[in-house]
Amino acid sequence: MLKIYNTLTQQKETFKPLIAGQVSLYVCGMTVYDLCHIGHARVLVAFDVIVRYLKNRGLSVKYIRNITDIDDKIIQRAQENHESITELTTRMIEAMHEDFAQLNLMPPTQEPKATESIAEIIQLIQILLDKGVAYQAENRDIFYAIDTFKTYGALAHQDLEKLRHGSRVAVELNKQDPLDFVLWKAAKPNEPSWESPWGPGRPGWHIECSAMSMAALGEQFDIHGGGLDLVFPHHQNEIAQSEAATDKKFVQTWIHVGFVQVNRQKMSKSLGNFFTLRDMLAEYPAEVVRYFLMASHYRSPIHYSQENLQLAQAALQRLYTTLFEVDNLGASGHPEINQDSLTTLLSSYEESFQAAMDDDFNTPEALAVLFVMTHEIHRIKATDPNKAILIAQVLKKQATVLGILQQNPKDFLKSGVQQIDSAKIESLIQAREKARAGKDWKTADAIRQELEQMGIALKDTPQGSDWYRL
Ligand SMILES: [Zn+2]
Repeated sequence: MLKIYNTLTQQKETFKPLIAGQVSLYVCGMTVYDLCHIGHARVLVAFDVIVRYLKNRGLSVKYIRNITDIDDKIIQRAQENHESITELTTRMIEAMHEDFAQLNLMPPTQEPKATESIAEIIQLIQILLDKGVAYQAENRDIFYAIDTFKTYGALAHQDLEKLRHGSRVAVELNKQDPLDFVLWKAAKPNEPSWESPWGPGRPGWHIECSAMSMAALGEQFDIHGGGLDLVFPHHQNEIAQSEAATDKKFVQTWIHVGFVQVNRQKMSKSLGNFFTLRDMLAEYPAEVVRYFLMASHYRSPIHYSQENLQLAQAALQRLYTTLFEVDNLGASGHPEINQDSLTTLLSSYEESFQAAMDDDFNTPEALAVLFVMTHEIHRIKATDPNKAILIAQVLKKQATVLGILQQNPKDFLKSGVQQIDSAKIESLIQAREKARAGKDWKTADAIRQELEQMGIALKDTPQGSDWYRL
């Protein structure tokens, strides 16, 4: 039974989709004014694994991830760059798609843009005005009146006084309550605007997600997610807008992904301690980045450091080395396998993996199951190669759910050695082959040691020596 921690109830709950067999999921996507950083990558890898796992469990998943392509930051950045908003957002969306493809993120079912959802947004604001929960201020901006929503603050589990005190909302004369939030911003000179019944303007951020999620998934859906920083006010505001408009429970399960920390501080643009996903992908293979992000549970904070990335790389290399060795085993032709005990063994690995993932998508536990299989492969590969090959197949199948071990082991193990002179490696291997052919074992051993010092291991096969990175 799949259990998911719901931010709204602060409990792990048995997950039961509103429509049996189908999951509706909305994740707040990027505001496209800059490149994605590791914090974004963490959120999106977490949901990528969630979607993969739900599908693996036989559910169909409608996964919506929006693009915020109109916003104060976008307007400001475009002005700074002396380019149009469309030029900036088109460039950033392209870069985002490149980064996501490199990270092997599955594309969402739909990727709606705020600027293409203005009609839905206007319609929703009109309903809120008609119901008397929104008002137009003197400056013509339209605000949501939070005192009309009884459970405002429930998602953050804080009372209104604390939120008013803690949110450091700029006191604005136009608002009736400091926590009231803008639904529609009246047009200002040199800013893009759209016609509306209340004059030209542009949407606020929160209303975009209510409008886009309900347009794609209906008034009620299963899972809404994002980074932990979106709990308040963004997701609380989405609940207030959507539930006031429909009088129905908006979302069943709220999933929030923890922060990436650098030196115990949250990684963020405002603190200036962020790394772009692109920087990280230039340094590490995408699967290493994924492994690093999955090595902690999605709700815990994760610590960004070179050391943790190198640990992830070493762990992934161990898994690939195992697969590489199994690839070279070859079946013995004498299967001494007791079929019943083998089936039990293989399904016990699958069950352990599923139990880990069923427990609120516990990826560190799921990765541990992959290592249990790896140890067993090493234990038996010499005596029972057929069984080792079958376990490796299960290992690869489970790893697919996590989006790792998707490459040819040999290619992965050779990757990242561009810094090392591969021509030199090849010539040393040739020299070693020559020495071996002439039975000069001393020279052959010396060359092997020299290669090991370069971080290169050799694998002698009937076709000659192959090499991989230690
Ligand atoms: Zn959102």
